[in-house]
Amino acid sequence: MASPTHDIVIVGAGTAGIYTAALLRKKRPELSVTLVDPSDVHYYQPGFTIVGGGEYSLEKTKRRTRDLIPAGAKWIQAKATELDPDKNEVALDNGERLQYRWLVACPGLSNDWNKVAGLLDTVGKNGVCSNYSPDYVNYTWKLIDGFKGGPAIFTQPPMPIKCPGAPQKIAYLAADRWRQRGFLDKCDMHFMTAAGAMFGVAPFSAALDKVVARYGIKPHFFHNLVAVDGDKKTATFEKVQGDTKELVTYDYGMLHVTPPETTPAFVKQSPLANSAGFIEVNQSTLRHVRYENVFALGDACSTPNSKTAAAIRKQAPVLVKNLLSAMKSEKLDAVYDGYGSCPLTTSLNTVMLAEFIYGGKVTPTFPLNPFVERQLWWWGKKVGFPLLYWQMLKGLEFDISHSEAKGQPYLAGSAT
Ligand SMILES: Cc1cc2nc3c(=O)[nH]c(=O)nc-3n(C[C@H](O)[C@H](O)[C@H](O)COP(=O)(O)OP(=O)(O)OC[C@H]3O[C@@H](n4cnc5c(N)ncnc54)[C@H](O)[C@@H]3O)c2cc1C
Repeated sequence: MASPTHDIVIVGAGTAGIYTAALLRKKRPELSVTLVDPSDVHYYQPGFTIVGGGEYSLEKTKRRTRDLIPAGAKWIQAKATELDPDKNEVALDNGERLQYRWLVACPGLSNDWNKVAGLLDTVGKNGVCSNYSPDYVNYTWKLIDGFKGGPAIFTQPPMPIKCPGAPQKIAYLAADRWRQRGFLDKCDMHFMTAAGAMFGVAPFSAALDKVVARYGIKPHFFHNLVAVDGDKKTATFEKVQGDTKELVTYDYGMLHVTPPETTPAFVKQSPLANSAGFIEVNQSTLRHVRYENVFALGDACSTPNSKTAAAIRKQAPVLVKNLLSAMKSEKLDAVYDGYGSCPLTTSLNTVMLAEFIYGGKVTPTFPLNPFVERQLWWWGKKVGFPLLYWQMLKGLEFDISHSEAKGQPYLAGSAT
């Protein structure tokens, strides 16, 4: 069933879709904006870290999608099943085929639990938890709260994933909780990562090496979780060393898993995807590289930035400006510089606020040494950033500039 042509169809009403719709409605109220998303709930996902850490409630992260749809925008509660940019069409699971003039694609990343043998059968029980799903995040806190010592394992899969810092943030919150309760020395904590360093931006990685050492957490690089046996309480990793690969198995008392993530199948199967399955856009303008009336942002697009809501805060205004220029056949002059930010919860009252752009350049927003763990940012994480997030989804722009920290004394390595 074909429908009348929509000015702008946005596929995905998560962080990116809602914010983009709100900006478009604010700047050009005469345009028809249609959002497609099957989900009737929206989560403030950055809050999951502190829910798992016992410092926030899941309820506070949750809103009804219908309450976030900007006034004047239309929401079709359905799943996109096919993107056909040659016909300017999006097929829906209700049989409808939406015709668009302009498409904004932002369906995010999905957890790929099945990539780890045995994981889906055991996550949520048998000591296996995950902050990466609202279904299992409360179990993270239950396990941390009930832990009395022994082996605790925290995993990180190959990139890209949402918020690359989140797999280790929960390890620090757990360690600090157990330190406060006086039995950290009885805990045998391991951080197992498929990556070769604690963080993708070298100066922050160096600062985080000190945090893991402080808690006595043992980092294991190039270790990718491949199987979990919930009955035996074992986790098996593929360990890569040079050209050799071997399987190594660890016992656990508590296992926090960050699952592998993937773009949804309908994206991967579409002509919009690159070979890795991400929507292939110009990394500066966010316009699709082959289809001029298609733009994308957020976790599902191909830009090589850190997949964060903080990135979307910068991407959406650029995309909207360029989309409105494209509609007038004007030059696209707004540029996304790859900004991303990761509030690294290094304890139950400190955060190291990592901000950076393409190329791993450190770009703090405020004139403060970014490698220092600060209480100020803890309150940002717990109070300020959630408030900003909900305001942002209403179309409020916080375009506070960030700048490259060139020549700053702290880049010479001092973290004091
Ligand atoms: C544990 C955790 C901690 C995090 N911490 C931080 C942090 O500290 N700071 C930070 O900035 N970011 C953080 N993030 C990342 C941040 O939440 C994401 O980067 C951001 O929400 C991505 O927005 P998005 O719109 O691209 O995707 P999402 O917000 O995930 O939205 C995608 C939407 O697309 C919809 N969709 C999916 N398939 C279809 C389909 N077939 N048809 C139509 N719609 C579809 C979904 O229902 C969903 O509503 C964290 C994430 C997690 C999980």
